[in-house]
Amino acid sequence: MKLSERQLNQVNDRISALVNAGSFYGKKLKEAGIENVSSQEKFEKLPFSEKNDLREAYPLGLMTAPEEDIVRIHSSSGTTGLPVIIPYTSKDVDDWAIQFARCYEMAGVTKLDRIHITPGYGLWTAGIGFQWGAEKLGAMVIPMGPGNTDKQIQMMIDMKSTVLCATSSYALLLAEEIEKRGIKDQIHLKKGIIGSERWGSNMRERISSILGIELYDIYGLTEIYGPGIGINCPNESYMHYWDDYVYLEIIDPVTGENLPDGEWGEIVITTLVKEGAPLIRYRTHDLSRIIPEKCSCGSGYPRIDEIRGRTDDMIKIKGVNVFPAQIEEILSLFPEVSSEYQIHISHLEGKDTMRLYVETDGTVDFAKLAERIAVKVKSKIGFTPIVKVVEIGVLPRSEKKSKRVIDERYE
Ligand code: ZN
Repeated sequence: MKLSERQLNQVNDRISALVNAGSFYGKKLKEAGIENVSSQEKFEKLPFSEKNDLREAYPLGLMTAPEEDIVRIHSSSGTTGLPVIIPYTSKDVDDWAIQFARCYEMAGVTKLDRIHITPGYGLWTAGIGFQWGAEKLGAMVIPMGPGNTDKQIQMMIDMKSTVLCATSSYALLLAEEIEKRGIKDQIHLKKGIIGSERWGSNMRERISSILGIELYDIYGLTEIYGPGIGINCPNESYMHYWDDYVYLEIIDPVTGENLPDGEWGEIVITTLVKEGAPLIRYRTHDLSRIIPEKCSCGSGYPRIDEIRGRTDDMIKIKGVNVFPAQIEEILSLFPEVSSEYQIHISHLEGKDTMRLYVETDGTVDFAKLAERIAVKVKSKIGFTPIVKVVEIGVLPRSEKKSKRVIDERYE
């Protein structure tokens, strides 16, 4: 995706703001002797920012606007060590709400909708983001927050909620509860806006068929406003994102090099107008790709594919980056194989080899199926794996997350 002249000017404006404020990244840029960038090429040489660095700025080192302009902070989770604190100015909060309202509009939500919000409120960007966006749009908010399923369902019935905002797992829980109680006819939901995390098409179909609603994936992360920087439209599953607020790049997560549009890699985000804590080239570790074609819905906003996992899941084989979701996507084209598979990577006679184990029942020719899958992987990813077809039930099952990739090169 090309950086427009306007975006380049916005980047330079943010670099000056960072340097002048002497904030955490301002100091880093100054030390690196960076004052502005004159071209896409130069922009792509700017250092990345990383979540681990953001932690070093704890508590308020990222603050780039004067204190009197900061109206709120949010914090992103830290499973280990310090959290990341992101300060927002009043304009940042408003810009976020504008983007979020745009997401609702893209999903066909209007002022007449009643928006039932189940993500949590507090330091998180979740609940409050859904709420401000809905208020900006002018819809009625039912600010439930998480938990208490009985009350959720009662309010959903009494308030005639039409839009459910939830994580995919909570949406599924509510759907199954509604089905179990046999009260589907009392529920008025039409759409679900689901906070973007990786969720399988099985789960999506289940929620959508039980509740009879359309589902939308909303994208975002606390470091960059929060949820609301992108969403899919009714026409396609790819997500539009708001390129007047954020600039997205896709990079090779190993080399850090920019990848051409259409190739899978890590999303890197630059905030174009953020004041409280601007970020330049922030590595999200989310895997996706830019969709170069124009959308059939007619919107001019650029698009990325669904989030297909994290860079930590990735394997490099024969110089090609591969991640389990790509293999999963290919296997989903073969209805005769089960949902279980295993990838073994080994280094034999000087070269990397992938063995792909899949399961099927006795009704198909194992050898022919193996060959068809190998040809498909070659055409989609660029190398030929050794495919081993086994009987259903042979691969190990796990109640927790199944181990899909076994890299024998490092064992
Ligand atoms: Zn579209």
